[in-house]
Amino acid sequence: MQHRIIPKTGDKLPVLGFGAMRFPETAGRIDRAKASEMLAYAIENGVNYIDTAVPYHKGQSESFIGDFLEKEGLRDKVFIATKLPHWSVRNPDDISRIFEKQLKDLKTGYIDYYLLHSLSGESWHNLDDLGIKKFLDLEKASGRIRNAGFSFHGDIESFKDVVNAYPWEFCQIQYNFLDEKNQAGTEGLKYAAKSGLAVMVMEPLRGGNLAGNIPENIMDIWKSAKVHRTPAEWALRWVWNHPEVTTVLSGMSSIDQVKENIRVAEDAFPASLSEDELIVIGKVRDKYKETMKVGCTGCRYCMPCPAGVDIPSCFEYYNSYHMFKNGNWAKWQYVFRSHGIMDGKKSHASLCTGCGRCKKACPQHIDIPLRLKEVAKDFDTPVTKAFSGIAGFYLTLRGKISEVLKIKKKVR
Ligand code: SF4
Ligand code: SF4
Repeated sequence: MQHRIIPKTGDKLPVLGFGAMRFPETAGRIDRAKASEMLAYAIENGVNYIDTAVPYHKGQSESFIGDFLEKEGLRDKVFIATKLPHWSVRNPDDISRIFEKQLKDLKTGYIDYYLLHSLSGESWHNLDDLGIKKFLDLEKASGRIRNAGFSFHGDIESFKDVVNAYPWEFCQIQYNFLDEKNQAGTEGLKYAAKSGLAVMVMEPLRGGNLAGNIPENIMDIWKSAKVHRTPAEWALRWVWNHPEVTTVLSGMSSIDQVKENIRVAEDAFPASLSEDELIVIGKVRDKYKETMKVGCTGCRYCMPCPAGVDIPSCFEYYNSYHMFKNGNWAKWQYVFRSHGIMDGKKSHASLCTGCGRCKKACPQHIDIPLRLKEVAKDFDTPVTKAFSGIAGFYLTLRGKISEVLKIKKKVR
């Protein structure tokens, strides 16, 4: 595993970090056996930076990591990064209360890398007013926070303001070959590095969209390259090509992904991509930009919606419909899942009432209600509505008939 040194502290960090938000699940819970196998393999192979947060896996991620490290006796072998959910902070006491719970869940007395989660300019000012600098100063002095940082989804000007507002050791930005000019972007990456901050990169595969279900016209470009790599490997190598990047976080979902990412991390050195390789990536970038409808990363910060819309799923199916080769498959998946055919729970785009609550939470600044109207126009058509009505009626009727048959059987 390659390592990079944190400028302000001398910590030696692996270039690949483990994002603890996409573990395999069973019935909505982290599959602890599979996730433990993945973590154990990763740590054994040098991936000893684990990035978690309160909302990951609907609140299960921190306690899973804590249990795993305690059971395996690995706490001292890894760097834990976790984050303060600023949206849950209403007063100064909330900050300490949340932090104490995180220490308890993670079964540790200290956090190696503590971030203010998903800042924008506005949320930074709110936290500043509530005394976050004093909290960080005190906890750093006590040793319970070893390095202070923030993750960021706002615009570049606000990013620079936050970089300048506190003596941070590090920051975390969204960065991949589609986001060079989005949020902090390349300008922010260079700015932070020049200011002496380590830079962790999140979403190197843009929520997995750059790794799987690749449209044919994009695969053709990848295949035209002289060297053959998977789309995920191309995307990761592009990020590591930047010398300013310290650690790339990958939210891995299978042991195969862990092995593949470790293999790539071994020799993805800074400035190692050739001119030809960069041209291939540029062509892929242009092609994606032509076809992507909504720049949603699936972070789910906009959720829950009071009207029940599953916003990221709507955008995921909508993007898949327009970007990937089997578009109709995505459309009918959407109809089955979001029209409540299987479980009666509706979450489709046309439920949106336009209240606008989600817009404020979106780090990608997507005009969610407006874009949901487009989704509804393509997907919630008279045909799909009629289909879901009939299918739902049929399944309900079938359920009722089978209940009656069961009762009859019991009576006999
Ligand atoms: S604007 Fe629409 S999608 Fe957003 S929170 Fe309100 S109802 Fe839900
Ligand atoms: S719409 Fe915005 S907040 Fe919601 S999942 Fe997508 S990127 Fe995240």
